[in-house]
Amino acid sequence: MDPARAVAVFGGTFNPVHYGHLRSAIELVEHLQLHHLDLMPCAQPVHREQPGCSAEHRAAMVELAVAGEPRLGCDRRELARGGLSYSYDSLVDIRQDIGPQRGLCLVMGCDALQNIASWHRWRELLDIAHVIVIARPGWTLPDEGVVAHWLQSHRCDAPAQLHRQASGLVHVEELRPLAISSTEIRSLLQLGQSVRYLLPEPVLDYIDQHGLYRQKESSA
Ligand code: ATP
Repeated sequence: MDPARAVAVFGGTFNPVHYGHLRSAIELVEHLQLHHLDLMPCAQPVHREQPGCSAEHRAAMVELAVAGEPRLGCDRRELARGGLSYSYDSLVDIRQDIGPQRGLCLVMGCDALQNIASWHRWRELLDIAHVIVIARPGWTLPDEGVVAHWLQSHRCDAPAQLHRQASGLVHVEELRPLAISSTEIRSLLQLGQSVRYLLPEPVLDYIDQHGLYRQKESSA
């Protein structure tokens, strides 16, 4: 590992992973010159219902989606830990793995940012990592309230700084907008419609092989 370059982790439910996630991930690696970025499926989301599709299936789909792209990976630590998946706990764990000096970035979309003040130990996230916010179609940054203030106080517009310090900055990155969501993919599948070209073909094959999403609230 080149110790000068920051690494990133992109948490989510990935139910299922799609090109909105994947294109954002690779563009972030390139725009910010990250060493690598791992998608990190949660075991049990904190702020939403348990997905009908198991964590094991969701992680398997992420692994298929990133296979062949060495700068992207799948981090399974939240599955291994089990229980509610707090990003704070995962970042503490990752920080232990990579040491105290290296830039570590937690990636999230604007929709996730809107709720960040309800996250477990949210103010301490910046003690361990930077936060990268992806501008997402249909969402804007908060312009008042506690999150807006937090954003303004830590905002960094010079991405090179993400590599020079280990944690403490919030950076907003404008990426190619792709209005794709897992919710829409699940709805299309339940309606028996095609989701081809919204997600990678091996993920689609996996969904077909395992009969995921086609029945209402699959028990998979
Ligand atoms: P759902 O529709 O079930 O809420 P989702 O498509 O938003 O799912 P998640 O797994 O919940 O996917 O999202 C993980 C992270 O990816 C979140 O931070 C979310 O903001 C971001 N994200 C999801 N879709 C996109 C997209 N099309 N472009 C950029 N970021 C995205």
